[in-house]
Amino acid sequence: MKKIVILGGGGFIGGHLGKRLKKEGHHIRICDIKKHEYFDHSEICDEFIVGDLTDPSVVKLVLEEDTDEVYQLAADMGGALYIFTGEHDADVMHNSAMINLNVARECTIKNVKKVFYSSSACMYPEHNQLDSNNPNCEESSAYPANPDSEYGWEKLFSERLYLAYNRNYKLNVRVARFHNIFGPQGTWKGGKEKSPAAMCRKVAEVNNNEEIEVWGNGMQTRSFLYIDECIEAVLRLMESDFSEPVNIGSEEMVSINELAQMAIDISNKKIKIKNLEGQEFFDKYGFKCPLGVKGRNSHNKLYYEKIGWKVSQPLRVGMEKTYQWIAEQVAISTTNSVSNVFG
Ligand code: NAD
Repeated sequence: MKKIVILGGGGFIGGHLGKRLKKEGHHIRICDIKKHEYFDHSEICDEFIVGDLTDPSVVKLVLEEDTDEVYQLAADMGGALYIFTGEHDADVMHNSAMINLNVARECTIKNVKKVFYSSSACMYPEHNQLDSNNPNCEESSAYPANPDSEYGWEKLFSERLYLAYNRNYKLNVRVARFHNIFGPQGTWKGGKEKSPAAMCRKVAEVNNNEEIEVWGNGMQTRSFLYIDECIEAVLRLMESDFSEPVNIGSEEMVSINELAQMAIDISNKKIKIKNLEGQEFFDKYGFKCPLGVKGRNSHNKLYYEKIGWKVSQPLRVGMEKTYQWIAEQVAISTTNSVSNVFG
């Protein structure tokens, strides 16, 4: 049995990771600034500490001398609306960098045996992601750096921070660059949700013969990795001896319109896609449409070479499970708002 700490375990990936590791019989301590919205805590951990990891005294308290593994997933993050409008840049950079500065140092002081850091595909240079059909996200393409968001710059800084602790203090680190992880028990409304969740929610909320909005022309491309495969890839990376940054994502690239159509097909409803762009978007929402880079796809050659494992599940399979869960959430929230109105 390992003694494991999951920072940010009140979030989407951390909750699923806690569930898997607890099932395997390890002792799990979670620290997050908030409780998990969808998992019962007994399902994902043995101890849940509510605390702010930007505060060094909290990090000191949470990390103990005999900790085997730390998974650092805590970050001030969100979907396109949160990250790409520019309105949260200072908070995103300050909060996430503070967490990582505290965690890297404290893990070193406490001699933590192994530390996992969750970076993001958002750290790849914008100039390699201008062609939606041919984005380059090979690990070696990271430099010269030019991420398109401050969120991406912070991820790049923190990758370097953990690698520097590895070189100077022998901190045993694993660094993964996640590419759009999705699935049930994740944020599905409110502006911080990712596109698979947003598409499932929009489709679940409308009736037959209505339409859903897709921001932009829908031709931007992305790949999406289902949560169970992400967790498998993280655990295999942790077991390996590879300490350089490596992609964890799917190579099944789709356009956002294709993703929306997949959610529609799964629902069995007849729904039209309305692409909302330019002035029309601005008139409706009062800000420029936040799109991110034109194309992004995971490049998994290095992961396969070093770890020897491949993602196998098609996007559609994960989307079916996610749609089912989000449709249930939509139904629950509709029932709740109806019962609020009537008494
Ligand atoms: P999430 O937002 O669900 O989880 C992050 C958690 O960090 C949240 O529960 C949040 O409350 C917590 N947190 C934020 N600030 C904190 C603080 N000051 N103190 C304590 N806890 C704090 O996100 P997620 O999707 O589970 O992502 C986990 C990690 O993976 C993040 O670092 C994220 O940047 C990275 N990542 C995720 C994706 C993805 O597609 N989900 C893609 C790339 C990178």
